[in-house]
Amino acid sequence: MKPVIALVGRPNVGKSTLFNRLTKSRDAIVSDYAGLTRDRHYGQGRQGKREYIVIDTGGFEPDASQGIFREMAKQTRQAVTEADVVVFVVDARDGLSAQDHEIANYLRRLSKPCLLVANKAEGMQAGAQLSEFYELGLGEVYPVSAAHGQGVRDLVDLALAPL
Ligand code: GDP
Ligand code: MG
Repeated sequence: MKPVIALVGRPNVGKSTLFNRLTKSRDAIVSDYAGLTRDRHYGQGRQGKREYIVIDTGGFEPDASQGIFREMAKQTRQAVTEADVVVFVVDARDGLSAQDHEIANYLRRLSKPCLLVANKAEGMQAGAQLSEFYELGLGEVYPVSAAHGQGVRDLVDLALAPL
């Protein structure tokens, strides 16, 4: 069985961009508009000899009667259930939001490995600008730039190492 990596996080943090990097595909819809990716996407990736599956989340059904946020929470739970390792993506430029805290509270209670990734970190110093993310209580914060590919190989190594 290939290990499964789930990408979770609030809209617009760059999950689909990271998905494309990790799968070298354009399967997920990348959008400037929060929430436009409407489906959960699965992709396959490979780094060296290691193959893996990636799940992109954050989509929602257009007719979701329960509302966007409940639907996102449901998708996150489903993806996390299927995953061997969770990559929780936050936005290094936007900083922390209430939604980030909510997702972190959920992830902290799980007994799955979870990596906290600060995306859009191109051109940033690792220190001061990322320190607030330690508040989430998920340990180390890994800066990446999905758009520029920085830190992505290391992220895959880290994610797959315990699996
Ligand atoms: P999602 O809603 O979490 O799937 O986010 P998307 O992948 O759709 O990206 C949302 C926006 O952030 C788009 O405008 C992307 O181009 C932008 N974005 C994604 N990754 C990066 C990055 O590493 N750096 C910067 N500066 N922008 C990024
Ligand atoms: Mg998306």
